Amino acid sequence: MPVAARPAARRRARQVAVQWGARVVRVGADAPVVVQSMTNTDTADAIATAVQVKELALAGSEIVRITVNSPEAAAEVAAIREQLDRMGIDVPLVGDFHYNGHKLLTQFPECARALSKYRINPGNVGKGARREDNFAQMIEVACRHDKPVRIGVNWGSLDQELLARMMDENAQRSAPWTANAVLREALVRSAIENAERAEELGLAGDRICLSAKVSGVQDLIAVYRELARRCDYPLHLGLTEAGMGSKGIVASTAALSVLLQEGIGDTIRVSLTPAPGEPRTREVQVAQEILQTMGLRAFTPMVVACPGCGRTTSTFFQELADKIQTYLREQMPVWRSRHPGVESMSVAVMGCVVNGPGESKHANIGISLPGSGEAPVAPVFIDGERSVTLKGERIAEEFQAIVDGYVRRTYGPAPD
Ligand code: SF4
Repeated sequence: MPVAARPAARRRARQVAVQWGARVVRVGADAPVVVQSMTNTDTADAIATAVQVKELALAGSEIVRITVNSPEAAAEVAAIREQLDRMGIDVPLVGDFHYNGHKLLTQFPECARALSKYRINPGNVGKGARREDNFAQMIEVACRHDKPVRIGVNWGSLDQELLARMMDENAQRSAPWTANAVLREALVRSAIENAERAEELGLAGDRICLSAKVSGVQDLIAVYRELARRCDYPLHLGLTEAGMGSKGIVASTAALSVLLQEGIGDTIRVSLTPAPGEPRTREVQVAQEILQTMGLRAFTPMVVACPGCGRTTSTFFQELADKIQTYLREQMPVWRSRHPGVESMSVAVMGCVVNGPGESKHANIGISLPGSGEAPVAPVFIDGERSVTLKGERIAEEFQAIVDGYVRRTYGPAPD
């Protein structure tokens, strides 16, 4: 039997269209997994928010969420949308609502219209009878403006009344579940029951996505497996509060990859805490890299580089790998439209003769740099065949020119 190389087929039956003007982003069913992100600007600062949305969209975010937490923020949403339209950025905007969403969506109809989707956290819509009324008000606005919603539960803000009821039920069991198991079940139940309630209130089933975010990898996997088993709404995946730096990237990648490999997840967000000065677009890049390295989508030509070892005593090959990866990423806003298909290109930058020629032959273009003690020449491989051999001081520039030429020949006309 051949070794399986592809993830399981995705199982969501429903598909949600998230739309702004002519731009339609499809989430669920047979649509590709969608990359989302979220701003961290004050939404009341319309210019700063529009600028960051633009940056995220240009980095590849296909949907961008903004917090709508106050009347001042809600009052600026339409202006943010107009500013983006003026800049030619048609990325759909999602409004993130907690506590006062029912009031803001009702009191600021232009905000309700300018958003392409509403995120509703059922744990943060009020208590008791008010909770039901507030939730119904938000669904009514979604129906009136024909907007989809995400029912987004989060274990940091889980419906405490539901959790208390379930803890009581659990205490009656002959073999009670662990508190963590009850919590996970409460997340799943809160998401599904609120989605069903939204449908009872008149929102179509294909206008609803679900998410149930937690910050633990194993908890996230367990919760989403259960959600996928028990409903067919499209699922938004994300490890909440993933953290900073490599920890956040590794934790998100571990959790999301397991689920995506099982065919679970229709849209993803990587919730990184940016280091001071780090661009917000980093979360988009990581989300794309998760999908691309798993072979689910292609966004940017990927550079395969060896880690280096005692055979590489200079940093030249690391610098070349970094330079080429940065160059490829910087070209993508232009290449994406001028050279369709270039996003699937692979480039290898290898440190010595041990794996250099072999890995270079597997890539579209590869260069095998000389390791310690090897002749100072760098053979270049194009589509598996040895092409030129570079040497001297200008190897980096010459290799970049070879990559440029390959892109033009293989993926379409030269840039203007
Ligand atoms: S390709 Fe060469 S330099 Fe790179 S890790 Fe392997 S042995 Fe080391």
